[in-house]
Amino acid sequence: MATADNGMHAMTDARNIDNARKDIAPPTDDARWRAVLARDAAQDGAFVYAVRTTGVYCRPSCPARHARRENVRFFADGPAAEAAGFRPCRRCCPDGPSLAERHAAAIARACRLIAASETPLTVARLAAAVGMSPFAFHRHFKAITGVTPVAWRAGLQAQKMRESLGASGGVTAAIYEAGFGSSSRFYEKSADMLGMTPTAFRKGGKDARIRFCIARCTLGALLVGASDRGVCAISMGDDPEALIRAFQDRFPNALLVGDDPDFGGLVARVVALVENPSTPVDLPLDMRGTAFQQRVWQALRAIPAGETATYAEIARRIGQPSAVRAVAQACGANPVAVATPCHRIIRTDGDVSGYRWGVARKQALLARERAAAEKEAVEEEAAGRETTGGGVAAPASRRQSRAGQGASSP
Ligand SMILES: [Zn+2]
Repeated sequence: MATADNGMHAMTDARNIDNARKDIAPPTDDARWRAVLARDAAQDGAFVYAVRTTGVYCRPSCPARHARRENVRFFADGPAAEAAGFRPCRRCCPDGPSLAERHAAAIARACRLIAASETPLTVARLAAAVGMSPFAFHRHFKAITGVTPVAWRAGLQAQKMRESLGASGGVTAAIYEAGFGSSSRFYEKSADMLGMTPTAFRKGGKDARIRFCIARCTLGALLVGASDRGVCAISMGDDPEALIRAFQDRFPNALLVGDDPDFGGLVARVVALVENPSTPVDLPLDMRGTAFQQRVWQALRAIPAGETATYAEIARRIGQPSAVRAVAQACGANPVAVATPCHRIIRTDGDVSGYRWGVARKQALLARERAAAEKEAVEEEAAGRETTGGGVAAPASRRQSRAGQGASSP
């Protein structure tokens, strides 16, 4: 789920991008002038330009009318322009936070307003509150958080809903606590957000029958849970009791069936997957989450075994490059270990980083995938030698280039 921190995160990203750009060879003045003519916001922070006739300096993206080329000088940054006697433009404020930073701060403010409001705020009101047009607000909100304002609020509500359903009271109380104006509105949406209707969620019954089983695997205790639609929980840990408690907390009043003899086959397939995480996942999955979470989980399942990706790469792959924090949270909310391979996410610096089910398990899963990939490469090589008499180049180089892609980090 997205949080109000996203805006701050996007600000950091914008700065990192600016810094990264400065490390590359300096652009020529011609390239800078083309960026100015294009009002290229991506170049903001890379340089400023000053206009001799007005005495003002601007960001490349400044919306003001362009000066004539012969009156323009370029500077690395604001202080350099000011040292040469120019003053900052009042329109593009080249001495303040960049446009991207101001947008990110405004969206973070809007997220806090949504979270604090008992009733839904319209896009028009939110936009006015942060000083944007409704259209621009909607666009920036989505670019920064990865979801629309409505979906963002729905996600917050779903979270509150789960908390209050788990904690206390009746369904109706929980509905109002979560900020839904009426119960009918809630029931319309709840199947998507909770994975089952609230009554089923609380009381169990036919719709919320969840079979589960604790198995043992080489990584410790393994809990597998499945609704009638598919596997909805895979978790690992040292203590089987703790796994069951967490599972019950997630489905506090569902009908949990722990002794279904027909369940063994499915559990065996999950155990096999953990033992060899490189095998294709052919389990039916029942993963309910927000639209954004679904996209992230889908992107995780698209990472080939033996390869890794960073949160930033996943954010780019789902077309939301600035929603890195929200991507990280969606990964953390993954309910099915290994089947949705969130263990293939590593930090930008290549470090393994955290894992909901223990870093040691993550390292073991990655090591198993690496071993399987190496074995496969050796076998391919051997097969290539047999059929073409030493012509091993094709399969081996394909494997290498794939591994190369996986290893690259931003
Ligand atoms: Zn300007």
